[in-house]
Amino acid sequence: MASAAEGAGAPLVLLVHGGAGDVADEGVPRKLEGVRRAAQAGYEVLRGGGAALDAAVAAVHVMEDDDAFNAGYGSVLNVDGEVEMDALVMDGKTLNAGAVGVIPDVRHPIDAARLVMECAPHVLLVGEAAKRFAVARGVEAAPPGALVTPRAQAALRQAVERGDYTMHDTGGSTVGAVAIDSRGHLASATSTGGTSGKMVGRVGDTPLVGCGGYADDTVGTVSTTGHGESIIKTNLAHSIIVLMRQGLSAQDATQRALDELGRRLNNTAGAITLSNKGDVGVAFISKRMSWAYRKGNEMHYGIDPDQHCVEIVQEKEN
Ligand code: ASP
Repeated sequence: MASAAEGAGAPLVLLVHGGAGDVADEGVPRKLEGVRRAAQAGYEVLRGGGAALDAAVAAVHVMEDDDAFNAGYGSVLNVDGEVEMDALVMDGKTLNAGAVGVIPDVRHPIDAARLVMECAPHVLLVGEAAKRFAVARGVEAAPPGALVTPRAQAALRQAVERGDYTMHDTGGSTVGAVAIDSRGHLASATSTGGTSGKMVGRVGDTPLVGCGGYADDTVGTVSTTGHGESIIKTNLAHSIIVLMRQGLSAQDATQRALDELGRRLNNTAGAITLSNKGDVGVAFISKRMSWAYRKGNEMHYGIDPDQHCVEIVQEKEN
């Protein structure tokens, strides 16, 4: 049964991605399962009348806890074998944003980013200082090394053997969520371990407003993934917003901005977008990108370029 919030205003939509990249065949089932679980968790928040920001953060939490993704537990490693994470949240109503860069040893970097937005007079805090700020205010710390997984260690060995950090080839598992709530407000949340074998102290696109994400209630909301340095150079998230402002649909704006990134910089990326009417855009120029969205009683998802599956969700009676 639909909750009171559902249908009261704009359509409720919760859209997530689980990263653009060369996802190996054996990684596909866990990624598809993970993005659907995340979309469902975020949608439940919307259905209960919750705010878009709460819903987007809830969806990212699910993927930060799942080592199928490169965020929180399961993050990829820098060249010294350490986890240094980036995260960003943005609230489309106020344009408030909060971010953390190269933050170590917290279970949910997205919570730290939100805390920066809500409790600091700044947009971005980095490194140990960001961790101290967050943990002092209740964000869950992780013991040193607890976020490192054998898979991330294997990926680092491969990255070091390959020796080329300029191309995006991470296996594609940064996570992001965008949402529109019953009051028509938008939000974006993105979280990542960055790229395997990155330099110590490297900040990627994810925590940079307009690169890793953007949200503006007057237009739409975006979360991106892919080669961070290319996303920074093209301001990918904000470029999509600008194209939508010029009249392109969420889908066309997302595709066009990504095509431009590929053409100019010969690298790969992906993005998810919602317009302020609840129209969906999903595009990637990488081999794969897992994504899912819940809208009404439909769960849509896919990972390959032409894949778009739809399932009807049977709600449990309350
Ligand atoms: N954009 C992320 C970064 O460069 C990586 C990714 O999305 O795969 O930090």
